[in-house]
Amino acid sequence: MTPICDYHIHTPLCGHAEGDPAEYAKQAVQKGLSEIGFSDHAPLVSHTDPGISMNISQLPLYHQMIEAVRAQFANKLTVRVGLEADYIPGFEDKSKDLLAAYPYDYVIGSVHFIEKWGFDDPIQLQEWDKKDVNDVYREYFKLLRQSAQSGLFDILGHVDLVKKFDFHPTEDMSREIEETASVFKEAAIVIEINSSGLHKPSHEIYPCMEHLKVYCRNGVPITFGSDAHKPEEVGRDFNKSREWAMAAGYKEYVLFEKRKVTRTVEL
Ligand code: ZN
Ligand code: FE
Ligand code: FE
Ligand code: ZN
Repeated sequence: MTPICDYHIHTPLCGHAEGDPAEYAKQAVQKGLSEIGFSDHAPLVSHTDPGISMNISQLPLYHQMIEAVRAQFANKLTVRVGLEADYIPGFEDKSKDLLAAYPYDYVIGSVHFIEKWGFDDPIQLQEWDKKDVNDVYREYFKLLRQSAQSGLFDILGHVDLVKKFDFHPTEDMSREIEETASVFKEAAIVIEINSSGLHKPSHEIYPCMEHLKVYCRNGVPITFGSDAHKPEEVGRDFNKSREWAMAAGYKEYVLFEKRKVTRTVEL
């Protein structure tokens, strides 16, 4: 059966998504989902950028909005509240305070920055020309391992986002991935099958099949996310996501409540 739950949904508060949260919920119902979770871009701990993430002063409104959707869809949909928070080394204490300020059902940790470079930002695309792709990949996976070990996050988002613009390493990264998978397992991290990659230059779900097989073999659990920035994107390509997970060897996925895995659902 198609996954019943989409845990990666944005709201306009991040400055680059559109549509009322209720429209996202409505789309979820139409798609036959029974559970969604909002995970908008958490306020950045290193700097502010209104086009990239919420501002700290918007958090009360974020929670109010989700509360309102939960009430409105009470009989139709389970509505979870999460965040997608950046992992920025050196700012762990600030991140911890931010995530403790409100109750969440889960927090998705994402790596979008290598030092100050937003490597997945189209505006900073030319920066790739100055870099060694293999070094970028190694740095990216090191940051993923650090995010897992930070203990800040429940789920890690789009765990090969580094491929977004279709730049691929020329060297073998299999040892990087093996190490990353064992760190994830050790840290009890869950990863997401993120279908938005299909609509990016790499045209592939995050993470790729080769990596996903390694995560599966290491016993790293999964959730599903569309990374919707528009209502119509909720639950998008979830049949493909399910097939992707099953092809890698997965038989089930997990659901969260109050930052704990509370249910396991068969694929
Ligand atoms: Zn976004
Ligand atoms: Fe992201
Ligand atoms: Fe996202
Ligand atoms: Zn994302």
